[in-house]
Formats: sequence, C-alpha cells, structure tokens
Amino acid sequence: MADKGTFRILVTGGAGYIGSHAILALKDAGWRPVVIDNLTTGFRWAVPGDVPFVEGDIEDAPLLAKIIADHDIGAIMHFAGSIIVPESVENPLKYYHNNTAKSRALIEAAVTNGVKHFIFSSTAATYGVPEESPVREDTPTLPINPYGRSKLMTEYMLRDTAAAHDLNYCALRYFNVAGADPQGRSGQSTAGATHLIKVAVEAALGKRESVAIFGTDYDTPDGTGVRDYIHVNDLAAAHVKALEALIAAPQVCHTLNCGYGKGFSVLQVLDAVDRVTNQKIVRDVQGRRAGDPDSLISDNAAILERFGWLPQYDDLDLIVRHALAWERKLGDRT
Ligand code: UDP
Repeated sequence: MADKGTFRILVTGGAGYIGSHAILALKDAGWRPVVIDNLTTGFRWAVPGDVPFVEGDIEDAPLLAKIIADHDIGAIMHFAGSIIVPESVENPLKYYHNNTAKSRALIEAAVTNGVKHFIFSSTAATYGVPEESPVREDTPTLPINPYGRSKLMTEYMLRDTAAAHDLNYCALRYFNVAGADPQGRSGQSTAGATHLIKVAVEAALGKRESVAIFGTDYDTPDGTGVRDYIHVNDLAAAHVKALEALIAAPQVCHTLNCGYGKGFSVLQVLDAVDRVTNQKIVRDVQGRRAGDPDSLISDNAAILERFGWLPQYDDLDLIVRHALAWERKLGDRT
C-alpha cells in the first residue's frame, strides 16, 4: 500500500456534490486529497479548510503539471464535469468539451507527469436503453444522449491509454446518486437542480411549488421512469475502495457499476418523500423528457465481489431523510 502520508490524491471537481463527499471519505480513510475546481458549479465552502484547494481548470496543462509536482500526486479522482441529461441534448458541445475534451487533457496530464492511477466518474447513461435489466458491465453500451456518449468516450480513452502507458484506471458507472453526508458535512447544493430527489425535497420544503413527473407511459410497472438510487456516501466509499484496489494491483483496470441493484419509480420516490415529511408534495404530470430511458437498474455483483464494497445506506427513505436534512441546512445559502 502506498504511503498515505506522502502520496496525495488529486480530486477534480472536489467542490461539487460527489467530489466533496469523496474528499470526506478519503480523509476519513486517512488519505490526503488536493482539490482542483473551476467553481462553475461547485462551492469553495464545500472543501474542508485543511484540504489544499486550487481554483483552476483541468485543461490547463502547466497548472496540472505544477499541482502534480508540488503535491506529489499519486492518483487522480476525476469528478469534474457536466451531469444534466436534458442539457446535454440542448447543448451537446458543452458536454463534449467539459466531459470528453477536458478529460482527454487530464488523462494526458496524468501520463505526462507520471500519475499512475486514475478513477473516473462514469455513468449508467453509457448503457442507453439496456437490452437487459439489471444491467451488467458487459451489457452493450449504446448511449441515447450526448451526456452518456461524452462519458463513454472517456472510458475508451482510459482503456486505450492504460494499454499504452503505465497507468491503471477504474471507471465507476454511477446509477442515480442522491442523499447527503449523514453527519451534515456536505450535500447537493447547486441551484437550479434537476435531479429528482433534490427537486422533490426542495418542493417539500416550499422552495418550489411542485414536482414534475416526466412521463407516465414508460414500459415500467407504474408507467414512470425507474432508477437505481444510491446514497452519495456509499458511492464515495466505493471510490476509496477503487483507489486502494488500483494501488494494490497496478496491472488491473476496472469498469464497474455502482448502484444497489434495485429500482424505484418516480412515483415511489415521491411517495418516499411524502412518507418522510408526512405531507404531500404537489405532483405535476408532464410529458416525457428528452433522452430518458424507461428503466436503469444495476447488477452490482462485480463491485461487491471485487472491492468488498459494503453499502451502508441502502434504504430509499434514509436517502431522502439525509437529502432533506441537508436541504434544510442549506436554507437559502446558494
Ligand atoms: N424526473 C421527474 N421529475 C423531475 C426530475 C426527474 O419525473 O423533476 C424523472 C426522470 O424523468 C427520470 C428520473 O426521474 O425518470 C430520474 O431523473 P434524474 O434527472 O434525477 O436523473 P437521470 O436518471 O436523468 O440521471
């Protein structure tokens, strides 16, 4: 195992939602993170004061070279990127820039400056409308929106780069990430949220009037979209496992689903929010949203077995409770 005392982890997008939770998980496990974030959607306050922070862009090659040298970076966790499916349909070039071109620059910085381990935030959107459910990692990847394609291209770049250079990687294909740190240290804070659980808890707290239900004619039991919601702390813990696996076996690369292997419909999620808050949020049935598949549920056997990852918060009501607690704490802060 690398020496946690000297070997630092560069976390891109560390001021964002998942990145900030990964920093907490790294610190809790004794690793020392360094953050680079351009603060377009992240918040400086989301990064703990004792974590070195650089405001900058991951395509700035001289800056990356300096950070890697100054902090003895041994691994990169790459969270920075754009994450909204409908926005990727409206503005695909933004996604191919932020998610694909900038990842290329970052991977090049890793290779050029001798960083040997790379952990990448990939997505279940790489599968598109999967042929089978739950989806296994070897299910064909046929993304149906630019977001999924922008991330899949980065998986390809990592695979090819690892074959040619001294670098191993883990691409974690996230399912639907939600919730907040149970200790209230971080949570989802970006204004103008579009993700279902965040939107629903905002509505429950009166920050918006209603929640849209995008489509009731999907090929699912109740007609609304089904997703596999995973607590952000379990996802963050998976990143620490991935880091340690990459260091322990430098010849091995991983592409792994990260979900609980269970699906909940939009209606089931809204029911959970009503249950937790003991009130009823206003539901506004609308048509389908562009780029949405019917159902996305992970087969998570591979990550459970390979990393010994043990989810701690596999409970939709608990995820909602933590999201709600953070939303309350956030108040009008953003
Ligand atoms: N959804 C919805 N209303 C919303 C936001 C999302 O009905 O305000 C639905 C969406 O169509 C999908 C599911 O909830 O079926 C999850 O969408 P989200 O945007 O949270 O994540 P995605 O799966 O697109 O990454």
